[in-house]
Amino acid sequence: LDPRLVSARASVIGTRLVLLIIRDVTEQERLDQMRRDFVANTSHELKTPVGAVSLLAEAIESAADDPAQVRIFAARISAEAGRLGQLTGRIMSLSRLQAEDGLTKVGPVAIDEVIASSIEAHVVQADSAEVELTRGGDRGVFVRGDAQILIEAVGNLIANAIVYSPRGSRVGVGVRAEDGVVEIAVSDQGIGIAEADRERIFERFYRADEARSRRTGGTGLGLSIVKHATQRHGGEVRLWSRPGRGSTFTIRLPRIDAPDNLDAGKKSKK
Ligand code: ADP
Repeated sequence: LDPRLVSARASVIGTRLVLLIIRDVTEQERLDQMRRDFVANTSHELKTPVGAVSLLAEAIESAADDPAQVRIFAARISAEAGRLGQLTGRIMSLSRLQAEDGLTKVGPVAIDEVIASSIEAHVVQADSAEVELTRGGDRGVFVRGDAQILIEAVGNLIANAIVYSPRGSRVGVGVRAEDGVVEIAVSDQGIGIAEADRERIFERFYRADEARSRRTGGTGLGLSIVKHATQRHGGEVRLWSRPGRGSTFTIRLPRIDAPDNLDAGKKSKK
């Protein structure tokens, strides 16, 4: 064995090892940076409602002998508290989805129930925005996953569709079952999304129109939850949009047969 060959080989292995370590360190740095950004963004987002609550509490103190004013300030505190609740709820959902064991209760999920629950949760919002909420497409379709998380994901799409739509327009939730795949599409006739924003809106805290999203109570986390929830179920999110005309977000999930104990008849027909 030529000792020069041995030492050349050792140096190649050494170089590979160094490269591997460098790659690992860079990946670690990237993750650390993401974590730091998330903490910074979250704190920034929490500051606004917390600041508002403390200002309103001061206002109540100084308006103590004017019951009408006190009621107005109290209602605004309650609205800010609601916003804080939504924000912390979404932050928790997102961090759960990013954890190793992201899905807690996994089993057969009836898409009919996911759609019914997510629509039900937004009927009041649709009514007050004067947006018509409709449901169409296939029934009796199942996926494997966590029903609560899917309800939250579809609900976020419905909530956005209503928020970014004009009065008198329609938001449709449709289901299409194909071989091995089910598509849940939420369509609106709203403001649409510019091409340049279509990738970025799925990032945490990214908003295409910062001012509008804040005014309408947006957190900038809704679509990030949709993306992670879908990926956790082995699926993907697709987006079609035309600015000024509307958008359609489609969640595509792997489909399973109807569970035997629920609907044995449909299973054999499929
Ligand atoms: P937000 O709470 O701000 O709505 P999301 O993560 O749900 O946060 O959405 C990110 C951004 O994507 C929104 O701020 C908005 O600019 C854009 N967006 C989401 N859904 C729609 C939609 N249906 N129509 C138009 N723009 C949308």
